[in-house]
Amino acid sequence: MFAPTPVETMTFAQREIFVKRDDLIHPDFSGNKARKFQYFLEKEYPEITKLVGYGSAQANSLHSLAVLAKMRGWQLDYYVDHIANYLQQNPQGNYLAALENGANIIEKPEHVTESIDSYVTELAKSALDNELYIPEGGRCEYAAIGLEQLGQQILDWIHEKHYSTLNLFLPSGTGTTALFLQRFFKIKRFEHEDLPEVNVLTCSCVGGDDYLRLQFNQLSENALHHPRIISNGNKYHFGKLKRECYEMWQRVCASGIEFELLYDPVGFIMLEHFFTQSSTVDNIDNTAPLMYLHQGGVLGNPSMLARYQRKYQAK
Ligand SMILES: *Cc1c(COP(=O)(O)O)cnc(C)c1O
Repeated sequence: MFAPTPVETMTFAQREIFVKRDDLIHPDFSGNKARKFQYFLEKEYPEITKLVGYGSAQANSLHSLAVLAKMRGWQLDYYVDHIANYLQQNPQGNYLAALENGANIIEKPEHVTESIDSYVTELAKSALDNELYIPEGGRCEYAAIGLEQLGQQILDWIHEKHYSTLNLFLPSGTGTTALFLQRFFKIKRFEHEDLPEVNVLTCSCVGGDDYLRLQFNQLSENALHHPRIISNGNKYHFGKLKRECYEMWQRVCASGIEFELLYDPVGFIMLEHFFTQSSTVDNIDNTAPLMYLHQGGVLGNPSMLARYQRKYQAK
């Protein structure tokens, strides 16, 4: 169990908002992926000596899994499609941090044509007793354990503040974090009617709103558990450089809190859009107190910034 992360205030779009600093959970194990992998940190696994995961060589989950394995005294085998030459020669960010934590990063063999996803799923079928396979990015029910503890911290904070409603904003990839949080708040309030109402608001940073809706439906058939998707009508492609995103990142970092460059710029663009709507959006009062969830990931900033600087000669 992690100690509650701090909540700070910041001015954004002429509003005072609260920032839940989940990027500060632990110096090495922090943010969204720490919450999602918390289950594997705490559960007893007498036979396990090796963790096996997969994903991108730059992913936050690579770094978090490497730290998790180290904390537990396990080896990590992490499969990737491909490691870019540049990254191999200039290790940085999550990739470097994972190597420093002893991760064994393995490129898919050249003759394999299937996706890394199905390649590792195939490997998992002949897993040894000492090996624990982890689905990509923590898109699984086990992620609920850590996210519900985060939800409880937020409820405790609202209680201290005597609020009756809170809008909680966080940008989504797979939507797992947003949905599990919304589900937690709904179920809690169903059990205890006097609890505050927490509306989880999110936006799509990966494959558009339809993709995100599809993810929600796969995670829960109960539409009450689905977060609200805030959109200004523009689609943002994951990892693609946009001047608008870079400018938003500079604006929010000027507050003194460093945000990350993949999800947060889109998050704040959509949050600003939400604030500028007439007072209710989808039956949600946009004047209610708002908390933005900082999900970590700043370790990837230097390499994203280098890309931005190459593209825009930005300073
Ligand atoms: C993984 C990640 C997300 C996306 O989380 P989902 O549960 O997939 O929506 C957002 N922000 C950061 C910093 C992340 O590492």
